Amino acid sequence: MKSLSNVYFIFNSKISRFIFQYALKMILFFGTRPGREEIKKLHGASCPFCNQSNTLTASIQANFFHFFWIKLFKISKHEVIECSHCKRAYYKEEFTKEMEDALKR
Ligand SMILES: [Zn+2]
Repeated sequence: MKSLSNVYFIFNSKISRFIFQYALKMILFFGTRPGREEIKKLHGASCPFCNQSNTLTASIQANFFHFFWIKLFKISKHEVIECSHCKRAYYKEEFTKEMEDALKR
């Protein structure tokens, strides 16, 4: 009876190890990947903080869902605008209409 439970234990731990390794691989096979960072100079927009024009630079980073490292679709987009004059950074909710227009151009 004792040997039987021993065998069962080994079998069980083998299965659990297999499941663990499989789960670990699956985590790597799909998930999110950051796309290439895009740097864009904003022309015609001025910084609301220091009032300098053409000092704003936007950095746009998109995140993609990937399956086997193939990017399938965009999940989120992270946009930050920075002023090279006063070094102030603006997040999406702080964008002025001027910045939005310059971004679309
Ligand atoms: Zn500024």
